[in-house]
Amino acid sequence: MGAAPGCCSRSKRWSCNFMNLDARTLLFSLILTNAIMVLSLFAAATSAKGDGRPDGIGKWAAAILLETLAWVLIAMRGTLPDAISIIVANGFVAASYALMLAAICEFQQRRLPHWQYWLPIVLALLVATLLPDDIRSRFIWGGCVYALQMVLIARALWSDQATRAGRAWRLLLGGFAVLLLVLALRASVALTGGTLLSVPQNGGTPHWVQIVTFVALMATSLLGSIGFLLMVKERADREVMHLAMTDSLTGVPNRRALMEHAERALSLRHSRHLALLMIDVDHFKRINDAHGHPAGDEILRQVAGLLAGRLRGGDLVGRYGGEEFCVVALDTDADGAMKLAESLREIIASAVLGTEYGDLSVTVSIGVSYCSTDTERELKGILAEADAALYTAKANGRNQVVRLN
Ligand code: GH3
Ligand code: MG
Ligand code: MG
Repeated sequence: MGAAPGCCSRSKRWSCNFMNLDARTLLFSLILTNAIMVLSLFAAATSAKGDGRPDGIGKWAAAILLETLAWVLIAMRGTLPDAISIIVANGFVAASYALMLAAICEFQQRRLPHWQYWLPIVLALLVATLLPDDIRSRFIWGGCVYALQMVLIARALWSDQATRAGRAWRLLLGGFAVLLLVLALRASVALTGGTLLSVPQNGGTPHWVQIVTFVALMATSLLGSIGFLLMVKERADREVMHLAMTDSLTGVPNRRALMEHAERALSLRHSRHLALLMIDVDHFKRINDAHGHPAGDEILRQVAGLLAGRLRGGDLVGRYGGEEFCVVALDTDADGAMKLAESLREIIASAVLGTEYGDLSVTVSIGVSYCSTDTERELKGILAEADAALYTAKANGRNQVVRLN
């Protein structure tokens, strides 16, 4: 399906050569790729999800479906009455972008203001209804409406910190930026108005801007859909990672997260000193025995909260296991580590832990280990030192801080 020979003026020959394509073929490919995308998206939307929370994929699939239907109507221009092939098609395109915005808002779990959804659809229908025979004005005014939708979508993506935590949103933004450029190109060609922007059905060679539009639409539909699915996947991955790194009882980092943090600190040497505090609740078994395991669990939660509340930004407290917690403190020298440990011990010893089983109190013993990150030390050795110090604190009568090195 090549362009008719001799169709190009000298100035446009490059574009005809570059696009040895015709609009019908492109329109067909656009419809086909969109239809395949719709099927894949609906499959993704209906596949089992962990928490059943809506993620926007269903709405995105509906958006691509509407866009596909719009292109089917446009492809049938001449066969169908103009009222359908122009007005309904433009309404479908505006509705599909509105649904994309709604999908993004659903993904971000925020409400989409009604006007952002309905206004562009109403405006697009008005433009198509009032200017059915004026393709140039339709390109300009319709372009303005779609551009407004692109801007609203870009703003929704940009303004949400959680969305920008990943990378996939950039694919979406890139797709819509391409579309915005194409809309500007169409409007400027229509404004300068030298050449008629021919449509595929009239038998002539389509204007090169039409070809660029179809290619851009296909790219945007693919970029947008893949980007959206990746965005959902990225968030699911982040949540799984968070779960894998968090202690489910106390909500503080678990042993794995703690050890990775400490290993990173040792290998990257971002700080000069590293202190490790091994904290063990004294006679915890007695709490379980006297008040039951649920009371013990509540105590562990409160102890974790008290420890975390005292720490600085770069420090990390995690549950090492059972009733043992561990603090990794960066840029903390030997004296600083002892002061920190002493203040943590005091905070716990003086706290009244209100539970539904009555007001309880506990004490902790703390083993401190310290190292300078210049020395090539292994985490295993530092942990063993803190453990030995903790053992000594227990042996010396508990509710105290000990450092051996
Ligand atoms: P010590 O002062 O020597 O540390 O005495 P202890 O009783 O704290 O130490 P021991 O190791 O004898 O007992 C620890 C207890 O912690 C035993 C275990 O049942 C309890 N424990 C461990 N994990 C949990 C938990 O998740 N919830 C509750 N409720 N108890 C736990
Ligand atoms: Mg204990
Ligand atoms: Mg213990």
